[in-house]
Formats: sequence, C-alpha cells, structure tokens
Amino acid sequence: MDPQKEAQVIESHKNPFLMAQQQCDDCARVLSLEPDVHEIIRVPMREIHVYIPVRMDNGFIKVFEGFRVIHNDALGPAKGGIRFHPDETIDTVRALSAWMTWKCALLGLPLGGGKGGVICNPKEMSEGELERLSRGYISKIWQFIGPDKDIPAPDVYTNPQIMAWMMDEYSKIVGKNQFGVITGKPPLIGGSLGRNDATARGGLYVVREAAKVRGLDLEKASVAVQGYGNAGYYTASLARKLLGCKIVAISDSKGGIFNEEGFDPQAVFDFKKRTGSVVNFPNAKFVSNEELLELDVDILCPCALENVITEKNAPSIKAAIVAEFANGPTTPEADEILYEKGIHLLPDFLCNAGGVTVSYFEMVQNFSMYYWDEEEVYERLDKKISAAYYSVLGTSSEYKVNMRQAAYVVAVKRVAEAMKLRGWV
Ligand code: GLU
Repeated sequence: MDPQKEAQVIESHKNPFLMAQQQCDDCARVLSLEPDVHEIIRVPMREIHVYIPVRMDNGFIKVFEGFRVIHNDALGPAKGGIRFHPDETIDTVRALSAWMTWKCALLGLPLGGGKGGVICNPKEMSEGELERLSRGYISKIWQFIGPDKDIPAPDVYTNPQIMAWMMDEYSKIVGKNQFGVITGKPPLIGGSLGRNDATARGGLYVVREAAKVRGLDLEKASVAVQGYGNAGYYTASLARKLLGCKIVAISDSKGGIFNEEGFDPQAVFDFKKRTGSVVNFPNAKFVSNEELLELDVDILCPCALENVITEKNAPSIKAAIVAEFANGPTTPEADEILYEKGIHLLPDFLCNAGGVTVSYFEMVQNFSMYYWDEEEVYERLDKKISAAYYSVLGTSSEYKVNMRQAAYVVAVKRVAEAMKLRGWV
C-alpha cells in the first residue's frame, strides 16, 4: 500500500465517520452514482450539539456533552438510538447516523437515519443521576424530535427504563402523551413485545438463511460471541435456543472464555452479573478478545464496538460466517480480505437491523393504539429481514461485490430514488 493511502487507512480506523464515508465512496463508484447525490449523502443533514447540566448526588452540577445527528430523512422521519458512552464522539454519532439511514432503507422501512450520544459513564452513575441526565438530554433536544421528525431508541448502555424517562419528559413538555416519540419502551407504556431481543433475533434469522445458502448444519455449528451486553447475551442464548448452535467462546471488555463443549449462555450471563465479567467462569480456558476473533469456529459474532476486524487480523479469521451484530466492527480493507477468503460476511446494517425493524413495529402500534402479540412481531420481523438478506445476496452476485457493498447498493439506490422524487437533486 502506498504511504499516503496507508496513512488514510490508519486515520479512518480511528474515526468511524471516515470509515462510513469511505464505504459510501466505494458504493458511489460501484453504482456510478450521480455526483449530486453522492455529495449530499457523504455528510449528515443536521447536527445538534448540547450541554446538559445535571445535579449530581454530591450536590454539585456536572455538565455533560451530548449530540443528536440526522443523517438523511428522504425516506421518512429519522430513526436511531442514543448511546451513553464515555468515549462517545461526534464522529462516532455521525457514522452511526449514516448507518441508520442505510439500515432503514435496506429493510424497506419508511424511515431515515439518525443517532444520538451523550458522553458519560453510566456504570459510575446512580439511578437518580441517570434519570436527571436522560430528562436533561430531552429537554435540550425536544424541539428537534417527535413521532414525525426523529424518533430515538436504545443503543449502547441505554435501556427501556431510560426510554421511559425520555418519553415521559417529552410528553410533559408537549403537554400530551406521546408514546410514539421514542421506541424501546417497556411494554406497559407503549413498548412492543419482542423489542428486547429483536436485534439478536433478527440477526439469527439472517444467519439461519445464510447457513442454508452455505450448506452449514447449524445443529453442529460452533459460535464465538465477542461482547456480552444486551446484543451479545441475546445472540448467544437465541443461537442456542432457536438454531441449536454450540456457544464455544464468549468475551467482554475484560477478556474471554473458551470451552469446546459449549457454554450455557444464561449461566455465563448470571456469572458476569455477579462478578462483573465472564472471565474466570468455571471450566473455561481464558482467551483474549483478539484471540477470540481468530478461533476456528463456524460462526463469529462481533457484538461489541467498532473496528475490531481490520486488515491486520482479517487474514487470520477462520469462521465460515461472520455475523455483525455490532455496528461497524469490520473495516473496508478487512471486508475485502474476508471476501477474497470466501468468508460469508453478514454486514451490520443487515444483520443488526432487527432492533430498528421492531422499533418501527412499535411506532406502528403506538399510532394505531393496538398492540400485537409476540408471535406476530417475530413473524413480521422474519419476513422483512430474510427478504433483505436475499436482496443483498442477489446484489452481491449481480454486481460482483462483497456483501457490505451489496447492502450499500440496495440501500443507497432507494435513498437516491427518494431524493430524486422529492426534488432534492
Ligand atoms: N440502536 C439500534 C440500532 O443501531 C436500534 C435503533 C432503533 O431502534 O431506532 O439499530
């Protein structure tokens, strides 16, 4: 690689937004996209930057920095989660908002892409502090969100309780119950059944179809799961329950565990709850997060953060299927290496789109004031996400591009068409 290109690659690994732009540029090349469309979709449409004063338990005020970014709303109101994370940056939120645009478009949802973030460490905050921060964030951005403008949801380190406080704060400000302003709420106050494990479930429906295509027997398949938060835990337990797979490796930020006989995901989850980590789980060999990615397993599931599969470790990845439950785990250079090696990559904005798809169902239920049972949610999710998988697979062979580029092609075409119909270009 020439030194200038190499410098760009290194820089983009540190910055997810540069990576998202690089993916977008690659897609523009594959599609011979009109320059006007390309120019617009490379950047977000709106960015809100707020400072949120919160009264802490020690009696003093602490000011937190937060963001909400709308990447594109050509297909409908913006949609996307809110992350509470100590390492949050505006560029991460920009990248994630763009990925939401592509995710919603790929799944055929009438929604655009947005994302929010607050720089904080929820692990070090009391329940009261978290509630005041959640309400404070909404009081700073409420003018810009709403069921027909932008609808937030949970993401890393945010949960249904936080969504409940946020919905309540918004409802108080506008003077009426507005359940549809936010999704991922507890079912009693407008949440959808099946939302909690929707990201994992949707991804596993995709894995099921991919296994059919690749001729992989899931009952005999071994799985490694990187990251044991909400997505990781549900991925491991449903992979076992729904698909019959064996979960041989699990990790969290402190390290990982391996046992070729397989783990009981619930027991590992309970152990992590008790001790703070999966590490030291009985009868397991320690593996680092790096080693976990290179294990000789059938299915590798990155379920944590961005940038974990790069051109450095991609050549050593042995899994037949890499299912991206996290957002942005693989760099564009690594994508190409995995593709050349014949590894079947299920890209993030396909594989983890189950969350936003059930969020969309939640909005529909809020609007109609009529709530579905779990089976109906699962069935509709299965239909939508399986169809999206086959459209990406077909596009990958039609354009002779890797699965991520194929997913981009499907999504960008739809957004470009909507922009044209609306007269933006
Ligand atoms: N945060 C999730 C995602 O990245 C869900 C977004 C939503 O439900 O709106 O897809």
